[in-house]
Amino acid sequence: MTGLITQRLAEIRQQLPESVRLIAISKQVSVDAIREAYAAGVRDFGESRIQEAELKQSQLQLPDITWHLIGHLQSNKARKAVEKFQWIHSLDSLNLAQRLDEIAAQISCQPEVCLQVKMLPDPNKYGWTVPELLADLLALDKFEHIKIKGLMTIPPQGLDTSEVLALFHRTVELADQIRQENCLNIQMQQLSMGMSEDYQLAVQAGTTMIRLGRIIFGERTV
Ligand SMILES: *Cc1c(COP(=O)(O)O)cnc(C)c1O
Repeated sequence: MTGLITQRLAEIRQQLPESVRLIAISKQVSVDAIREAYAAGVRDFGESRIQEAELKQSQLQLPDITWHLIGHLQSNKARKAVEKFQWIHSLDSLNLAQRLDEIAAQISCQPEVCLQVKMLPDPNKYGWTVPELLADLLALDKFEHIKIKGLMTIPPQGLDTSEVLALFHRTVELADQIRQENCLNIQMQQLSMGMSEDYQLAVQAGTTMIRLGRIIFGERTV
């Protein structure tokens, strides 16, 4: 019998271009549900809290999973984050970048990160505004241990479809603009945008990574 998660994944994948990497967001999801997604072929999982991820990682013991941190990271947990996650989508300040880079140097690893940018003002979210990000670019380009791979964005609540699509298009343009700065270390190959409600718009705009939770695992209870 095919489970619900397996069915949902098949439906989603059918509409996705090859170039889009699907990250299953498993926050507040049981390890059994994660196992079903894994059995269906998912190898990228995202969590927003380090402790929760750590517990699941030890229960699952599946070494070929790539773990993605998608939630705000406090500086004092940066070391744990680098140890437990291969990707950090929620790099949201120069200070945190500095900290991650120091740790990556110390433990000789190269975490892949996205710069979280707010394309519209949003008091409820972390991240750089566009002018702030452009102002910090030169400083960010000096970090040699973290691998800055692209941009992550979350649209503010309450936008209509055309506004969300426009926001995603502007994010693509911002990545193009940054690419033209000819940075040494910063790369702009990846765009992490698109969640359950809006991933089709993100795909339309040319995203490379989508972060899907509820549409795979069902509504979260909390
Ligand atoms: C929870 C979360 C997601 C997944 O959201 P869904 O609406 O369940 O798809 C994606 N990205 C971030 C940053 C999140 O916090």
